[in-house]
Amino acid sequence: KYTFICRDANSSVYTALEQYLLTNRKGQWRKLQSDSIRFNLMMGDRNKLPYTRIGQKPGLQQLVNYYRGSEVICKKAQMIRELKKYCVYQDIPLFPWLPPSYVIIPAHSTEIIHSTADEVNGCENFISMSKQQKDEREELLELIQSDDIWIAKSSAGSKGDDIMISNEVEELIQYIDNQKHAYIIQKYINNPFLLNHQRKFDIRCWILVDSMCSIYLFKDGVLRTSSEPYNPNNLTDLTSHLTNHCLQKQRSPNFGMYEDGNEMFYDQFNEYLTSCGKECFEHSILPQIKDIIVTCFKVIKERIDTTYLNYSSFQLFGFDFILDENFKVWLLEINGAPACAQKLLPNLIESLVATAIDPLFPPVNSSSYNISSSFENIDS
Ligand code: ADP
Ligand code: MG
Ligand code: MG
Ligand code: MG
Repeated sequence: KYTFICRDANSSVYTALEQYLLTNRKGQWRKLQSDSIRFNLMMGDRNKLPYTRIGQKPGLQQLVNYYRGSEVICKKAQMIRELKKYCVYQDIPLFPWLPPSYVIIPAHSTEIIHSTADEVNGCENFISMSKQQKDEREELLELIQSDDIWIAKSSAGSKGDDIMISNEVEELIQYIDNQKHAYIIQKYINNPFLLNHQRKFDIRCWILVDSMCSIYLFKDGVLRTSSEPYNPNNLTDLTSHLTNHCLQKQRSPNFGMYEDGNEMFYDQFNEYLTSCGKECFEHSILPQIKDIIVTCFKVIKERIDTTYLNYSSFQLFGFDFILDENFKVWLLEINGAPACAQKLLPNLIESLVATAIDPLFPPVNSSSYNISSSFENIDS
């Protein structure tokens, strides 16, 4: 019999996982009080994970649902730094799927951008490098062209909050200088592929990294659509530019009018593409998505590796992409604790258990072995 603890009541994904273990794996998994230390599986509180205290019980195998150090790609400013730094060190051109992006530290901020340096498995060079506070406004100001549009996003922000779009970089910098936390200013992709030549969307994919650091892509994903026409002439009309579910739901009177819950799933999108004689999702979009994901983990893999630690990790990530009118995929951000579209949640949970948990804690009941996972390995 295996045991788990749950320390994050606010996570819809892990609350569902808990329910799954207690019902579908009844008799095999038991829940302990959240402060217990003799657990097999910890569903942790992302911001307060006691990594150094996991794996200290001899003979007890322990698994936790986050990778220490994964923030380096899950906070926007850190992600930009990491990806750029990697390209410089490898002496390769900047990744072509990353919109040009610059880290801006508010002028009056006394905050130190927390790097995960002190959490990373002892890599001295990395520690001293990432402690440097590098503001990239000068670099940005040097290269602006008058017709560029830029988007300012808070490094730790989510759900479309604290975002400003403008064709005046100076205006964005002024806005950021009055904020408290690090921001990025990123090239706004101003030629998005539009549904019915009208509405913008982004693409959300779910990625699972298992305890061996193998990378899996969930077979289904969702386009989060805007329910307002794209309006390039008004950059303050946020519902036309930002496709976050919460923002659309709160601010668009047309929410749900075109797609249920402003969500379109891969097969529906593929049907749409075929019906208008476009390329198909599987052949022209998915390969780009997989390549970006695998590359991002290549950048951080050594730093999140738990091979020599006495506990294991897995983690679910949410990657946000945007497609432009040339069918090019751009990476917008990586979320380290994503929620999941309601319709996909049951399958996501079942697949996550089969791919990331069962191999470490084999089910006793043989029928549990026959569950097929919708997570597809993409890095071998
Ligand atoms: P978060 O969801 O954490 O607030 P995102 O980077 O995903 O931050 O941005 C929110 C939304 O803003 C995206 O879903 C997309 O609709 C829009 N957006 C973000 N960055 C860009 C960009 N560079 N070009 C065009 N649209 C963008
Ligand atoms: Mg986000
Ligand atoms: Mg997002
Ligand atoms: Mg994020």
